[in-house]
Amino acid sequence: MEIDPIGYRKKNVANNLRWNANQKAANPEQYLQRKRDERATWVANNPEKAAAADRKSRAKAKASGRHRCNDCDKNFPNRPELLRHLGRDIHKNKVKELKEKANAAKFFAGFKRKADEAGLDDVQTS
Ligand SMILES: [Zn+2]
Repeated sequence: MEIDPIGYRKKNVANNLRWNANQKAANPEQYLQRKRDERATWVANNPEKAAAADRKSRAKAKASGRHRCNDCDKNFPNRPELLRHLGRDIHKNKVKELKEKANAAKFFAGFKRKADEAGLDDVQTS
């Protein structure tokens, strides 16, 4: 009997997928732990590939704008980094600056455009 390598590989992949699905259904925690261990082993054995994958994933997450600070107009690759940013002085100062700008805009919105002295009087008395 002749062996069909592609058919054999396809069958193998299908069997692995089925086996994984069964393991996951039978004991989800054990399955996750096994996957975590496998991943850690792979990262330890392939540090360059792991670093490249990490860079790619961070860049993709950053580009997607999922973790965004609208005040500072900045994207972050993940939630912990966004939260760290929100706690930093650079962010707090920016928020303070934006609030001051908004308050100033509100203050000046009370005046008519090109208000002369008479116009200012109108605003103050009405
Ligand atoms: Zn910010």
